[in-house]
Amino acid sequence: MPTIIFLKRAGGNLVISTAADTPQDVLDCMGRICSDCSRLCEKCGNAAYAQHTMPIRRLCSWCYAKDAPRIRDLDVATEFPDLVSDHTASLVPATGRRWYAIIRKCLVEMRGVVRDADLAPGTVQISDIKAKLGSIRTGFHSFHDSIDLIDQQLHDDSLLTCCRCGHVGERARAFMHNEGVCNRCAVFARYGKNVA
Ligand SMILES: [Zn+2]
Ligand SMILES: [Zn+2]
Repeated sequence: MPTIIFLKRAGGNLVISTAADTPQDVLDCMGRICSDCSRLCEKCGNAAYAQHTMPIRRLCSWCYAKDAPRIRDLDVATEFPDLVSDHTASLVPATGRRWYAIIRKCLVEMRGVVRDADLAPGTVQISDIKAKLGSIRTGFHSFHDSIDLIDQQLHDDSLLTCCRCGHVGERARAFMHNEGVCNRCAVFARYGKNVA
């Protein structure tokens, strides 16, 4: 029998560590189990993506909603002054509040790039962050190519993130037209909480 040293959840995945003398066919089998788990909700077995939770967990929209993380307020001018003009006193994204997690992640990366590249103050100036046709679009007074991929990634992430609850990986636009929502929020919107 193989000796399992540890078996744990890490980054929304299952990780199994075994003793050095574990046969290859057993390692292959455990690898397949971990691979399967990397596609499934850790609570119920529905198909699922890793979520922006602390720690990272892999949950379907139904299980995510039972313990959804609290969303902190976001004012870009206060939290990321490097990314707005000196004249901007306040810049709150005009998006669903539940998109703040992916916006904040993008802004942290942008600030890192601006600082690492030692760009002059004011080189990057965000003018607005808004929802357009079910996705996030960022407007700029001043732009630099070094942040182009990060900005594109934010747009792509928003296409997979529910703007009502922040769940990642489900999309049910057929119900909600231009709003990007998860399956659970779409069901609630259509039938009401009591029926769902
Ligand atoms: Zn689930
Ligand atoms: Zn949702």
